[in-house]
Amino acid sequence: ESAKAEDADALARRVHDLTARIEELREAYYQQNESPVPDADYDALVRELEEIEAGHPELRRDDSPTQHVGGSVDTTTFEAVDHVARMYSLDNVFSHEELRAWFSRERNAVPEGTRWLTELKIDGLAVNLLYRDGELVRAATRGDGTTGEDITPNVRTLADVPQHLDAEHPPAQVEIRGEVFFPVERFAELNAALVEAGHKPFANPRNAAAGSLRQKNPQITAQRPLRMLVHGIAAWIPADDSHPEPETQSEVYEQLRAWGLPISEYYRVCEGPDEVIEYIEHYAEHRHSVTHEIDGVVIKVDDLHTQEELGYTSRAPRWATAFKYPPEEVTTRLLDIRVHV
Ligand code: NAD
Repeated sequence: ESAKAEDADALARRVHDLTARIEELREAYYQQNESPVPDADYDALVRELEEIEAGHPELRRDDSPTQHVGGSVDTTTFEAVDHVARMYSLDNVFSHEELRAWFSRERNAVPEGTRWLTELKIDGLAVNLLYRDGELVRAATRGDGTTGEDITPNVRTLADVPQHLDAEHPPAQVEIRGEVFFPVERFAELNAALVEAGHKPFANPRNAAAGSLRQKNPQITAQRPLRMLVHGIAAWIPADDSHPEPETQSEVYEQLRAWGLPISEYYRVCEGPDEVIEYIEHYAEHRHSVTHEIDGVVIKVDDLHTQEELGYTSRAPRWATAFKYPPEEVTTRLLDIRVHV
């Protein structure tokens, strides 16, 4: 009995330590635009916490980092703004085996013949664009998913982001979600310029994107070659006489393209796990031929009606997952760790 109590104590302490460490890393990442540890190490901490909580639900606190979207709002620099519709994160899988297990679970919940939109996971920062009557009225960071940071003047400096939607009858309201990224081929040049000017360089293009966009002075943002790609839509109120609403994620992308928004040229609609894995393998080999960094592949139920039926957890959609590629730069170190355990 007392040994059991000791185990339970140790586990509760581990949950406490993991929670504190994850929150600390999130603060650095979302507020300071820094990555104190490699992403894979962060992901491993989150995974460990999830596994403990799954085995011991009594240790899962409502405010656990596994239960909410990471990120917060820096109100000293930005105005806090509420998103019209909530923004979410994504669940992760880290191997083909985990991906196949995810498909098996999904298949129990989706209609026969469901197709899977598969696309690159852009390693940038999540941004929400709000258009009213076709005009860009607001842009915000994801923040905690409910409230983000108002970065409208900064986002207006991006050539990729249209100020008006290209539509005869634009929707009364629409939120468009996407990723702002720093092009890989311009990253070395930015860091050289920063060092030259006596500033600290960025650790990676993702942090450079966040640091360049989350500026008090939008003129600094304007000097950075930031790009954007969009991959989602929410809070849509169509104009009265608009044509039929899209029924699939891929139709959404074609609608976004028609409005003049930048969508990725790399998405593919797949029949099932084999095709998805083929796509994952292809881009594992070709990830450096893409202008942005890729930290994985996102798989989404293509049919919007099915998406709606599946809904969301407090943190992520139940109709999508992210396959994360193993980190290239730390592979040897990970192998070392494996050898030692
Ligand atoms: P996430 O990055 O794993 O996934 C969710 C996000 O992916 C979405 O919000 C969306 O903006 C983005 N995304 C990119 N391409 C997309 C696409 N095609 N379709 C849909 N969404 C797409 O989750 P998160 O909660 O935003 O961040 C957690 C991640 O951040 C970690 O896995 C880690 O990589 C990184 N992180 C690192 C540290 C560190 O210290 N190194 C700390 C905190 C977070």
